[in-house]
Amino acid sequence: MFTLYWTYYLLGFIMLPGIILGIYAQCKVYSTFNEFNRVASKSGRVARDVARNMLDGAGYTDIKIKPIRGELTDNFDPHNNTVSLSESVYENPSISAIGVACHEIGHVFQHKENYAPIKARNALVPVMNFLGYLVWPLILVGIIMELFYLGTSADVVLYIGVGIYGLNVIFCLITLPIELNASKRAYKMLRVTGEMDEEEAAGVKKVLNAAALTYVAALVTSVLSLLRLLLFAFAFRRND
Ligand SMILES: [Zn+2]
Repeated sequence: MFTLYWTYYLLGFIMLPGIILGIYAQCKVYSTFNEFNRVASKSGRVARDVARNMLDGAGYTDIKIKPIRGELTDNFDPHNNTVSLSESVYENPSISAIGVACHEIGHVFQHKENYAPIKARNALVPVMNFLGYLVWPLILVGIIMELFYLGTSADVVLYIGVGIYGLNVIFCLITLPIELNASKRAYKMLRVTGEMDEEEAAGVKKVLNAAALTYVAALVTSVLSLLRLLLFAFAFRRND
């Protein structure tokens, strides 16, 4: 019973670093975006036009760009070949808006060039969706088996449940380099094409680095929540 007591005590606090880091990352994203949203690019071109130029320059004329509702909802959907830019980015000529738009164009380039981590992530998603349903039934069955003194086989069931849950960590681990790489591509394309000078591009780098922090926070949260599940599941383990 002692194990159960301290485990529950710990369960309450274990997520705290992840939550704090997550909140900090969100604040940092908004404050950095707002800071460079007040700085207009020297070219005066809006984010949509810069993004269009980058795509056309690479010969990717099949990719569409459209506005989407919400804030920081920008994304690239490879299923319909569409880059969606949020309303605050789409027709905005600021350093922030252009940086965000070019980050999404970075994702287009990743898909077009069959960048390996993107392939791995796409392969993992359906597996995760399918196996995800098994996590809690397995944990519950494992715990019931533990309560009935079925030691080793109960442990195996619990390990499988926790292991499947651990795929979330792998997903976050793959996502991080994908996001960093898209931002690196954005910075590079803005400099190589001469769209931005070094000073402007440095602003883009700050905005995109802040955005990357949210993916670091997601990774930390996924590790902590795996640890929480592990502690929860094995608190019911019986050694007697
Ligand atoms: Zn991204």
